[in-house]
Amino acid sequence: MSTNRLKERLDKGPVICAEGFLFEIERRGYMSSGEFVPMVSLDHPEVLENLHREFQHAGSDIVEAFTYNGHREKMRVIGKEDLLEPLNRSALKIAKKVALDTPKGSQPNLMAGNISNSNIWKEDDKQAQKVVEGMFSEMIGWAVDEGADILIGETFYYAEEAFKALEVMKKTGLPTVLTISPMGENKMRDGKSVVDTCKELEQLGADVVGLNCFRGPATMFPFLKEIREAVKCHVGALPIPYRTSEDYPTFFNLPDRSNCECPSPHGRTFPTALDPHFCNRYEIGKFAKDAYTLGINYLGVCCGANPMLIREVAESIGLKVPASKYRENMENHFMYGKNKRIPKHMTEYGDKA
Ligand SMILES: [Zn+2]
Repeated sequence: MSTNRLKERLDKGPVICAEGFLFEIERRGYMSSGEFVPMVSLDHPEVLENLHREFQHAGSDIVEAFTYNGHREKMRVIGKEDLLEPLNRSALKIAKKVALDTPKGSQPNLMAGNISNSNIWKEDDKQAQKVVEGMFSEMIGWAVDEGADILIGETFYYAEEAFKALEVMKKTGLPTVLTISPMGENKMRDGKSVVDTCKELEQLGADVVGLNCFRGPATMFPFLKEIREAVKCHVGALPIPYRTSEDYPTFFNLPDRSNCECPSPHGRTFPTALDPHFCNRYEIGKFAKDAYTLGINYLGVCCGANPMLIREVAESIGLKVPASKYRENMENHFMYGKNKRIPKHMTEYGDKA
């Protein structure tokens, strides 16, 4: 009998999964914003490998293959369907390589295959649903081929699409994580409540259910509380690091905070002008700690994540990770440090600086 490595680890304690590759690779200059196709695994594999290593260094236990949006429909939109399989296989191989090269002292990383929202799923459209199932099946097939240890289905805003994704994932026998992403209506687009969707995913056999993306800590946490009470399986929590609110529950419609004189040319802060809404690291640390205290052991950060925030998640729940070596040390700051070598005329000047 095969063991469920993911569940075993979650039963013992926290498991951290860095996500948010889309935004981070875009920020680094290797992806077109808006279009958001992960060509980086073919065009600049070294860039993707390095980002995985940085997340690993910061404490991620899972190396998730960057195949988000790397599905047949998106490749058709950009006229590169012929690159679909090479893109997927390259992303999976890179993730596997990094997972097998876990730094000394850390638990061996798990490589995750990934499928996500297709954006062509439509209620009552059996034809469209069949196409989506085919897209999931081929990607999961490649993930298994390339040695995935677990499978992650994420960012689903239709309940039925999430159920279909899980059904395809479950056929492999690998451990499964299924996280959903309700939009601003605070329910799934096909009408199901967030909690009922998670309960059904548990019934269908997901090892981890929960939420990822679209919502910042403030508008994700209330749902997580309800989910944690409603299910027995492990729960996942991967917010975006942006200050969403009751009025603006997701990052899609966040207005600029201070009437910026240089708004984005496309008329909204999402996805390229969200910067003023960014959560500081302590807010993300508090979120992770609060979630962990609730009994949520699968933790991470989604779009907007960077290695610094992943380290904050890890340290906030008491873990020491390779990047902890370089954690904050204000003691030695030239104006604000308490180190006795910092001259008094500098520390005294701090409030005027
Ligand atoms: Zn995301």
